[in-house]
Amino acid sequence: MSRSLRFACRQGCIDCCNTRGYVYLTDEDLRNAAGFLSLSAAEFERRYVYRTRHLLRLRKPRDKQCPFLSAQGCLIHSVKPTQCRLYPFWPEIVERAVDWRAESARCRGIGKGRVIQIGTAIEAANQMRVAYPTMY
Ligand code: SF4
Ligand code: SF4
Repeated sequence: MSRSLRFACRQGCIDCCNTRGYVYLTDEDLRNAAGFLSLSAAEFERRYVYRTRHLLRLRKPRDKQCPFLSAQGCLIHSVKPTQCRLYPFWPEIVERAVDWRAESARCRGIGKGRVIQIGTAIEAANQMRVAYPTMY
């Protein structure tokens, strides 16, 4: 594939954090976020995580999509979960040009900024497959 994409996250934008949906974590994400907040992994999980048979996801507060979303942005930015770190380079978005273009309606950074080779984008997308094997 010889496609290239443009992307640059827009400063101050929190649109993807405000999108309806769940934030899934890996075990490593959970440990990193717990450490960042000086909590044990067990305490972080008790406060913030809903565990299903195959997945961990952040509990959703009533009034917003994510417990760590603030007006200033992500409160755990440096250790944010894998899906947040990799967005918009998710398999379902980057693998087909039509989906990448459609996602620009939700992410204003798509189509802007520096050129990213498709191989680099697919590598990032593959990290999603590794991180969330039950979802792909
Ligand atoms: S929606 Fe796009 S531009 Fe906005 S914060 Fe998310 S990744 Fe960045
Ligand atoms: S963890 Fe941070 S980056 Fe991810 S959805 Fe919540 S506020 Fe946004």
